[in-house]
Parts: sequence; structure tokens; C-alpha cells
Amino acid sequence: MKTKLVVALAGNPNSGKTTLFNNLTGARQHVGNYPGVTVERKQGVCRHDGIEMLIVDLPGTYSLNACSAEEEATGKFLIDEKPDVVVDVIDASNLERNLYLAVQLMELGAPLVLAFNMSDEVRARGTQLDKDKLSAALGAPIVPTIGHKGAGMKELLSAVAAVAANGKGRQGLTVDYGVEIEAEIGDVQAALEQDGENLNGASRWRAVKLLESDRESFLRMASPELIVQVEKSAAQIEGCLNEPPETAIASRRYAFIADVCRENVHTAVEPRRTMTDAIDAVVTHRVLSLPIFMGLMYLVFQLTFTLGEPPMGWIEAFFGWLGDMVASWWPTGIESPLKSLLVDGVIGGVGGVIVFLPNILLLFLAIAILEDTGYMARAAFIMDRLMHKIGLHGKSFIPMLIGFGCSVPAIMATRTLESRRDRLATMLVTPLMSCGARLPIYALIIPAFFPAPWRAPMLWTIYVIGIILAVLAAKLLRSTILRGEATPFVMELPPYRIPTLRSVVIHMGERGWLYLKKAGTIILGISILLWAMSSYPEKMAFERDYEAEADAARAAYLAEPHKTDDAETLYLEKLKEIERQRNGEQLAYTVTGRIGRAIEPLLRPMGFDWKIGVALIGAFAAKEVFVAQMGIVYAVGEADEESEALRERLASNYTPLIAFCIMLFCLISAPCMATIAVTRRESGSWKWALLQLGGLTFLAYVLTVAVYQAGKILNIG
Ligand code: GDP
Ligand code: MG
Repeated sequence: MKTKLVVALAGNPNSGKTTLFNNLTGARQHVGNYPGVTVERKQGVCRHDGIEMLIVDLPGTYSLNACSAEEEATGKFLIDEKPDVVVDVIDASNLERNLYLAVQLMELGAPLVLAFNMSDEVRARGTQLDKDKLSAALGAPIVPTIGHKGAGMKELLSAVAAVAANGKGRQGLTVDYGVEIEAEIGDVQAALEQDGENLNGASRWRAVKLLESDRESFLRMASPELIVQVEKSAAQIEGCLNEPPETAIASRRYAFIADVCRENVHTAVEPRRTMTDAIDAVVTHRVLSLPIFMGLMYLVFQLTFTLGEPPMGWIEAFFGWLGDMVASWWPTGIESPLKSLLVDGVIGGVGGVIVFLPNILLLFLAIAILEDTGYMARAAFIMDRLMHKIGLHGKSFIPMLIGFGCSVPAIMATRTLESRRDRLATMLVTPLMSCGARLPIYALIIPAFFPAPWRAPMLWTIYVIGIILAVLAAKLLRSTILRGEATPFVMELPPYRIPTLRSVVIHMGERGWLYLKKAGTIILGISILLWAMSSYPEKMAFERDYEAEADAARAAYLAEPHKTDDAETLYLEKLKEIERQRNGEQLAYTVTGRIGRAIEPLLRPMGFDWKIGVALIGAFAAKEVFVAQMGIVYAVGEADEESEALRERLASNYTPLIAFCIMLFCLISAPCMATIAVTRRESGSWKWALLQLGGLTFLAYVLTVAVYQAGKILNIG
């Protein structure tokens, strides 16, 4: 008996594979109540009765045809790596549809265990399954499970061990495809065997596959005789049955499943109108759906801000205290580069980014809840009507929604899209969905420039602008370089579920942790680099004699006969102003200042000065760095101990119009380096990654210039 097994979890999207995977391996992979969450293969180990099992969580698929990237990956894994046991995770409340994959797995001859997951829902609907008879008819053991409750795991593992002990080489179940098709299967099988390829006893399976799907890629390596035979057989079937072989084969499989289910599954006589139907009647209503969707998004942003406010205050206070404490290690009046590095560079930079953790967590919390309840899939459905108009698929909307969190997983999630054109278009426009890393920028700027009642609408507006632009850009792409037919919308709407606390917390915690890690590593590094670039070289000889000016001001004040309060304030202001001008001159002299100056002419039309320009360069590394860099630019060399908050500083330096332009530019312009890298990987070429980079930056520039110039003419802000 083998003591080490490879066990693959296959199944339809959203059937609970990842939930079972987490139960079995103790891992904490993200589960979501919509299709396409697991995009990469995940592995974990579990032990049962002295057997070590390597569990592999595969991406969800409806069949083993090579239509989408996921189906291809799953099929490849099962055929090439031959796992010892395949557990097909089946959403038993949606049995017939889920059995389609199961039947294919059986035909393939995979050593199979059927996990009938969601058995709680089966029971709730009053459906009765005759487990033993079903198992006999399907030729594989069935284990009922309830994923999120962890029920049935022991039984599942025992069944896996039993199947593994039975050994392989079991003849797979055969579906009778009817005389016409069977005759051709026989001919192709004969031709295959003639071909002399090592078929591992799977010649029937291969013959069916050849007739059914993706003939070109299968046949590329085949002999001319085989090709002729397959083409002839396919034509023969089409001639007899008046439908293409793939349709004929699929409908025979469904007929087989329907037969099996008719005898062994007893649905309650009157299917109850489920809760899901009731909610959907409102939420996907023809007229109401869009306002409800927009309203929900609005609510999310409103909550993100109001609930985030107090903890942000605490974090700000903490870093303020930390900065003061570190500064107090040096005797007063002594300025050392190390002190500046620690206080302004490290604590200021990283602190400035961590402050937004509450916002990020709240946004992720909201997204996690929307995902897990099943609303996200509705959002895709609601948007499909719109998406279709722009030539995209409703499914494109899911990656785009994930894009609100982070573009990197979002771009990976485009793998669910079947058409390459859809996929590329979605990938390219996804960064327009404002990601979590851009939130700190808005969170910094909005409260600085806009009164409280405006804040949530402002944030909402920015997000909506992103959505609209993504839509337009997609339309443009789909009607130019990615022109082609739109694929119809086929996607299941999962039933509504109350999200489990565990899943929501895991999801939120995971992303929050990623954010912190980024703050602690990349952002820390960049902060230090930017600090150094903003501090050096030091200017030795200033253009103006600031010391003398300060002395003069002091003398003038001292000379005044009546020292009123007003005069004192005036004097202090004057000193501060001199200090600021001196710092400005110093900053302009540094590396940062020089780069900023060099690009300033380009930025002017958008209303940006060189300080913003420098922060924008930092933002390319990671969007959050914009905030850190602003903090550094405005704090370096600051002698004033009671330094004003960054927001006040910004408010006194820029107008609301410029503030809006900054947000607009950050929203649209080049995504961060990680996004470019993942686009390169997922699209398979630099061409698309560079198009994304260049195209978005160009778009950002043009639009921001337009808005700024128009705003100036209209005298807004
Ligand atoms: P995957 O796409 O196959 O990996 O599915 P997930 O593991 O992400 O699960 C999809 C959704 O179904 C999640 O919201 C789970 O919490 C939920 N779920 C998983 N197993 C069960 C179950 O047995 N019963 C019910 N009611 N929900 C489940
Ligand atoms: Mg999954």
C-alpha cells in the first residue's frame, strides 16, 4: 500500500473545493462565493491513518474541454500528472450540472471519489438522494460533506484511502453515445491504436475527445491517417445527426446524467421559492438593479471613511509620539542626518502609509462580504447588459471588481475568460478600477480639500470615473486592435449565503497583512531612498542670506516699542516663512528637486508642481508611496517642532482643482510595477504590458490636462 498519495480536488467553480481544501490541509486559502476565485493550483499536505496525502486544489471547471485557461490547466494536470485519487467536489444542490464533469472524469478512468458537498442545502430544499444507488450507477463512492461546517472530512479521507488501495487500471465508466457516434468512436479508436502512440488504455477517451473538442490542437502532432479519419468521422456524425459532434456528444452525456438522476434523486414536489429567488427579484430587477448596485458601492465608501476615522487618528498619534520619542534621543538643537533619516524618512514615510490601514481593511472587509454573500456575481450579471454593449463579457466584471482590491490578483482572475480578446481587453483596462493602494492617496487628499459632506461623494466619483473610463477604453480596444465577436454571457449566479466570519476575516486579514508587509519592505526601502534623494546634496551657499533676514526680522520686532500680540504673531509668521523659503531652496537643490524640476514643464499643464511630480515618480513603484513621498517632501529639513499636519500643508499649497487633478492622474496613470509585471506574465508578451503602461499614462495626461485647463477657465477651485 502506498503511504504517499497525490489527491486532486476537481469540481465546478464555486462548488466548495477551496473550502474542503482548507478543512483538509488546515490552510487558509481564500474562498469566495463566486466563480473563478482559485486561479492557481494550491497544494497542501494532510495525514490520515498513516497515509500522507498531498492535496491539490485545482481551479474550477465545468468540463474537461480545453476552452478556458482553467480547463486546460485542470485537464493537463489530471492527464499528465495522474494523481492517485481525484476528488470531484460536487455542489449536490445542483447535481445534474455538476455531474457533467464527474462523468468526464469517469470516462477518463480517473480513480474517483465524489464529494457531495452542500448537503445542507440539499436537505434544506427537501431533496432526497439515494446515495447507494447513485454510487452504483456512477461507479464511484459518494461522500456527503458540508464544507463550511467541516462535516464529512474523515469519511472523505477514508474513501480516498480505500480507492487508492484498490489500485488503478480500473476501466472507466462508459457512456453509450448511440449507434451513429459509437461507430465513429470505434473507427477513430482503431486509427489511434494504429498510430501506435502510448495511450495508456485511454484510447476510447482520446477518441471521444478528438471528436468532441479542440481538434486542431490535438491533431497537430497526429499522423495524416488519423487526421483524415477524425475529419471523416466528424463529418459523418454531423451528416447523420444534423448537429456538430461536440453538441451531440454533450447532449448524450446530459441524457445519461438525467437518466441516472431520474431514478435516484427525488425533489420535493413543489420546489419552494427560495430566499435567493426572492432577493434576486429585487437585486437583479430590470430597473432597480443598477441604482441598488451604485447605492451599495456608495455605502461601502461612506463606511470606509466614517468608521476608519477614529483608528486613523490613533495610528497617527502613535507615529507622532514615536517620531518625537526617537527625536528626543538627540539633544535639542542638534541636527544629524541619522535623526532626519529615522524621524522623517522611516517613521514619517512608513507611518504615513500605515495610517491608511483602517481604510484598507474596511474596504477589503466590504469587498469580502459582498463576495461571500454572492452579491458580486450579481454585480457581474447586472453589469453584463452594459458590458455587452462595450463588447466585453459580464465575466470581465469580476476581475474588474477584484481590481478594486488589487490589480494583481484581478489580472490573474481574467483566466476565467474564454476568449483571448476578452481576456486581453479586460487585463488592459483593469488597472482603471481604482485599487486599494490608491485609496491612501484619496484618503490623504479628500479631507484636506473638501468639506465633510462632500467627502464620500467625492471618493465615489473618483471610483465611478475609473469604471466609466475602463468601459470606454475596453470599447475602444474591442473595436480596434482587439476586434471580434462578443461571447454570450453564461455564468451561474450562486445562491446567497451568509458569509462565514472565518472566511471574511481571513480574506480581510490576508490583504491587510499583505499591505503591512508591503509597507514594511518595499515602501520602507523606497521611503529611505526617497528621503536620501530629498536630502542630498546639501546646499552650502544659499542664494539669499536667510540668517540675516531672520536676524533683521528679530531686530525689527525687538525694536518695536509696543509689543502687541498681533505684532508677535506677525513676527513668528515671518520667521516661518523665511524658514520655508530656505527649505524650498534646499529641496530644489537635491536630487529629487532636480528630477522634479526637469519634468516640471511637462506637469505644469496639469497644475502640478515639481513636488507632486516627484511623488508621482514614487507612485510608480507602488501607489501608496505617493503619500509617503508627499510626507517626506513636506517634512524634510523642517525645523519647526510643532509641524503642521501634512493635510494642512497641502491645503495651503494647492487648490481643490489641483487636488482633484492629482487624484484623477493617480487613478488613471501607469499602474504600479507589480501590475505591469503580472500583465506581462499573463498576456505572454511585453507588448501588452507596455501598451498598458503607455496607454494609461497617456490617457491620464490628456484627461488631467483637459480637466485642469477647463477648471481654470471656468474658475472652479
Ligand atoms: P470553490 O470555487 O470550489 O473553491 O468554492 P469555495 O470553497 O470558494 O466555496 C464557495 C462558497 O460556498 C463559499 O461561500 C463557501 O463558504 C460555500 N460553501 C462551501 N461548502 C459549503 C457547504 O457544504 N454548504 C454551504 N451552504 N455552503 C458551502
Ligand atoms: Mg476555489
